[in-house]
Amino acid sequence: MSKPLVLIVEDEAPLVTLLRYNLEKEGFEVGEAADGEEALVRIAERKPDVVLLDWMLPFVSGIEVCRQIRRIPQTRALPVVMLTARSEEADRVRGLDSGADDYIAKPFSLRELVARLRAVIRRAQPGTSEETLQFGEVTMDLAAHRVSRSDKPIHLGPTEFRLLRYLMQHPGRVFSREQLLDAVWGHDVFVEARTVDVHIRRLRKALNAEGGADLVRTVRSAGYALDQDAR
Ligand code: CA
Repeated sequence: MSKPLVLIVEDEAPLVTLLRYNLEKEGFEVGEAADGEEALVRIAERKPDVVLLDWMLPFVSGIEVCRQIRRIPQTRALPVVMLTARSEEADRVRGLDSGADDYIAKPFSLRELVARLRAVIRRAQPGTSEETLQFGEVTMDLAAHRVSRSDKPIHLGPTEFRLLRYLMQHPGRVFSREQLLDAVWGHDVFVEARTVDVHIRRLRKALNAEGGADLVRTVRSAGYALDQDAR
């Protein structure tokens, strides 16, 4: 899985340096913007997984930047964590209802900050880090290792289970046999691309055992995808 991208919007350079160092150490990719205008440009260029937005910014306050993020349809659901200088400000941010998903008061512990960032990213991406995956009638309980379709149990071998989990984590996306090999079998295992076809066939058979629409779409010369109306 790729690293989550956090955009730091803060004008205090030493704090940005400190945050960058620690967030990169924690496995985040870090982008920077020194004011609200630059933040909106960066977000338009590449949407981050979370915005860490300081309240005290030059020109336009963090609260106003947050409101702007919420006004733009493409960024309406973008997770925003607000940084505030004092706890009273935290209260005011809450009171102002800026649309931030969370806020954290300076001085803060980095561990807490990282936990909050991870939490809002997780909430924004249901399915990817949850215990249960859902695709149409198919439910996958990752902890219990159980799969069902319309509440009827489906029995999968371990490879088919991993294959389905990967496809359910990226519904609708087309994967080549090579991409599936890398993701499901791993880079260091030598398996022929045709092996993917064999396991896809087994997966499809298991999923469709009780009838119902075929959910695995074969994309000629490209690969496979999970699709509600696969033919
Ligand atoms: Ca600031």
